[in-house]
Amino acid sequence: MTHARRFAVIGAGIAGLSCARALQDAGATVTVFERDLFPGGRAATLIDDAGPYDHGAQYFTADDDRFVAAVQRWQSEGIAQRWLGEIVAFEPGAILDKTASAERFVGVPGMRRLGVYLARGLDVRYASPIARVRHSPAGWYLHADRQIEGIGPFDDVLVAVPSEPAAALLDGLTALAEAARTVSWDPCWAVTVAAAHDSHAPFEGAFINDDPILGWAALDSAKPKRGRVDGVAERWVLHARPQWSRRYFKMDEREVSRWLVRSFAARLRRGLHPLQARALMWTYATPVNPLPQPFLWDAEQRLGMAGDWCGGPRIEGAYLSGLGLAEAALQ
Ligand SMILES: Cc1cc2nc3c(=O)[nH]c(=O)nc-3n(C[C@H](O)[C@H](O)[C@H](O)COP(=O)(O)OP(=O)(O)OC[C@H]3O[C@@H](n4cnc5c(N)ncnc54)[C@H](O)[C@@H]3O)c2cc1C
Repeated sequence: MTHARRFAVIGAGIAGLSCARALQDAGATVTVFERDLFPGGRAATLIDDAGPYDHGAQYFTADDDRFVAAVQRWQSEGIAQRWLGEIVAFEPGAILDKTASAERFVGVPGMRRLGVYLARGLDVRYASPIARVRHSPAGWYLHADRQIEGIGPFDDVLVAVPSEPAAALLDGLTALAEAARTVSWDPCWAVTVAAAHDSHAPFEGAFINDDPILGWAALDSAKPKRGRVDGVAERWVLHARPQWSRRYFKMDEREVSRWLVRSFAARLRRGLHPLQARALMWTYATPVNPLPQPFLWDAEQRLGMAGDWCGGPRIEGAYLSGLGLAEAALQ
């Protein structure tokens, strides 16, 4: 090979971006293809006229030395901050203080900032959903929906999307697709709520472990550097429990909002009277049985897969999975 290795990375979530950065830093030529208009994937921020909401990942923790070092960098560059909000867990018959149970960080001014930061200086093609990967003697080609002419050639294709679509993309091209297919996922209904009045909730984040509908609530407007919008006192993000989200996967969005707001108001023992509430479905929210290996790499075909469904179902796992795949592919 006389040219710099040409890598295609599919997916600009945390795994795809950490992978692409490591490849580019090592001198490779990297093109990232992202279905959405923004980077970050599930480390997401939705912005509407009431302000920003982290409707996907709520916060992150750091344990592994490499991720701790990355988070320290992000803090010093103003990308992330500690979230010092009071966190509780509602258990049957008890409310536990969880504030000190972990060191929690958030992107500032929203979780999407992590992806935006990781994507800087990378060639990311947004609004580019990849539907098919094809081999030719010149190398790998990627095809968008109904696109006859492929984009390529690439020497390596690294897929950093949830396991189900990842397996579909690499089906028949590598045995890795079979491993990916063994992972199943929980969906999650997320509801964003803007309220005109303070709820006086005695917490800023709550694991709700004693409710059939609600699993988590966070006072998003109290996270660091979220800013304020006139007339909006509070912005909340509510997450439904996985079982409920699965059962009511097809429920009308307004109906989902009503159920979650009602459950949360009952928890607070006061009416919430939202100015607006909006429900969004995360089809692939959490891998139920992530693979034990941190990434998948087929050195013969030069195809790989990364994501939180290999590395561990969190932002840290996704970051390390992407990094590990880049290191393996560069060898
Ligand atoms: C509701 C919810 C709450 C969470 N809470 C937390 C938390 O508190 N703490 C924590 O650490 N983690 C949390 N997570 C998990 C965390 O968000 C994920 O582990 C992490 O963001 C996964 O990153 P990833 O890069 O592996 O995948 P993703 O973020 O899913 O990235 C995949 C990317 O690929 C793109 N894509 C998909 N298909 C295609 C295609 N065909 N072509 C091109 N692009 C494509 C997607 O648009 C996306 O940008 C939560 C997730 C959800 C949904």
